[in-house]
Amino acid sequence: MFPNRGRIFPRPPARALGSVGGVGRPVAGGVAGGVVGAVAAGVLLAGCTDDLEPEPLHPVEPTSTSPPASSPAPGASPTAPAPTSTAPAPRADPDQVRVETALAAVRHLAGTIGPRPGTSPAYLRAARWVEDRLAGLGWTVERQRFPTPAGTSWGVPVPAGPSVNLVATRGDVVPGRPWLLVGGHLDTVPQAPGAEDNASGIGVLLATAEALTGRRTRLPVVLVAFGSEEPRGPTDADHHYGSTSYVDALSSAQRRSLRGMVSLDRVGVGAVVPVGSAGPPDALTRELRAAARRAGVPTVLDPGQTSSDHWSFVRAGLPGARLGSTPYAAYHSAQDLPPVVDPAQLERTARLVVSWLR
Ligand SMILES: [Zn+2]
Repeated sequence: MFPNRGRIFPRPPARALGSVGGVGRPVAGGVAGGVVGAVAAGVLLAGCTDDLEPEPLHPVEPTSTSPPASSPAPGASPTAPAPTSTAPAPRADPDQVRVETALAAVRHLAGTIGPRPGTSPAYLRAARWVEDRLAGLGWTVERQRFPTPAGTSWGVPVPAGPSVNLVATRGDVVPGRPWLLVGGHLDTVPQAPGAEDNASGIGVLLATAEALTGRRTRLPVVLVAFGSEEPRGPTDADHHYGSTSYVDALSSAQRRSLRGMVSLDRVGVGAVVPVGSAGPPDALTRELRAAARRAGVPTVLDPGQTSSDHWSFVRAGLPGARLGSTPYAAYHSAQDLPPVVDPAQLERTARLVVSWLR
């Protein structure tokens, strides 16, 4: 049920990308600067045909935005010398999470843009907005184009067309070396403005991007906003098109070295964060729960969870998990508006993610 997949070709890896603010200093597990996002470069998909170009490619200029790390890290001695260019960046810290960043995304995506099926003009507007936010935080963003077939999404016919994943890196991903991925889907079903499903996940993704800026993580991190996650038919082949395309384009070295993928999907409702695994709880879910404990975040296990983009990874034999999925009344409806989302749950989820990455 992916008739166009055979027309997807990874872009040649020779494409050079610039490095961005925050990567000039050493980062954990990393080769700083220069070797930008081989993962991103490797997974880029060329547009399949000209009709997959609904708008000009939005130019992404690597920015030199200074990371918001000019103030001392919390707990730093007031007499400590100012960081120099040779000092290692401080570790990412859950206390750096700004929930307002996540909330602003929920308000803009669900309150201003509204419903954004993966092949709609509204989706492309949303993608551009998210791309600009990530670039403004110093991340290098590439668009990965992929086709999405026509279908029926939650009872509403939707047309075939192109969609995009946004793949954000910061120059420290090296082919064959361990890396981590955090993603969330940006699309919605046609009738829902998608505050909880899934502006909440994108909001936490952006809050994570912000908390990591100017800070090191234990492994290089790739952040992805996935397109066309929502179903367009009744079978397991009829959804998760963006993440499926992403996984399909990974090289065997990239697959072998992926240490964990986390999908943020419906992470703004509830008081406890569900930690989902496709099968029984596994090493990755244990890791996530331990990270949550360290960050003071309550969790509940959610085994047998295959309803989000992590499933595309697990199905391919890669380590994947989902955060979120607390049931709520406005699910896939016009009532899925910003007031549905609880800032405290966004903050819990973002703290958990940063704790896992640090
Ligand atoms: Zn969702």
